[in-house]
Amino acid sequence: MQTEVVLGIGGNKGDRSSYLARAREALSREVMLISSSQVYETEAWGGVAENGSFLNQVLLVHTSLEPLALLKLTQAIELALGRTRDQHWGDRTIDIDILYFGDQVCSSSSLTIPHPYLTQRSFVLQPLAEILPKKIHPILRKTTLELLAECTDQGQISVWKQAK
Ligand code: ATP
Ligand code: CA
Ligand code: CA
Repeated sequence: MQTEVVLGIGGNKGDRSSYLARAREALSREVMLISSSQVYETEAWGGVAENGSFLNQVLLVHTSLEPLALLKLTQAIELALGRTRDQHWGDRTIDIDILYFGDQVCSSSSLTIPHPYLTQRSFVLQPLAEILPKKIHPILRKTTLELLAECTDQGQISVWKQAK
């Protein structure tokens, strides 16, 4: 059985756009990439990262993997792309978060779905609204557009364009 899964990918270290591309490429070898948002440039969130702004993107994929197997895959891809975990919310080449896993709700020590911070982050809700405006958050029972309208995140966010 295929599940509709939403992933958030982003990073602020090295060639940001190339890391996003490499993450999409690695993911598409294991899951079916259905659609992707534009790439957004956003201010670092959480006040820890020092390396400057992030590029972020949201992907819709189909997979037959179970949630924990998908987490293992995303973490292996992060590792292969040079992700280190020196500091929570710190600088990183690539971060891959599972935002939604179908309509499943789960909370364990290694995996919380839906992603616990998604409603507080415009860099997630903005690209999500592009590809899944009507997706309903399975706990809050609100659409992406409703969550975006209620989000008070003041972080700067803009559609990113490749520097000429
Ligand atoms: P945040 O989770 O606030 O976005 P982060 O992405 O920087 O912060 P990480 O260091 O990438 O945090 O992840 C820390 C742990 O979060 C991972 O080891 C993983 O087990 C756990 N985790 C829990 N829920 C999820 C999820 N929905 N997607 C990805 N990782 C998750
Ligand atoms: Ca994250
Ligand atoms: Ca993460």
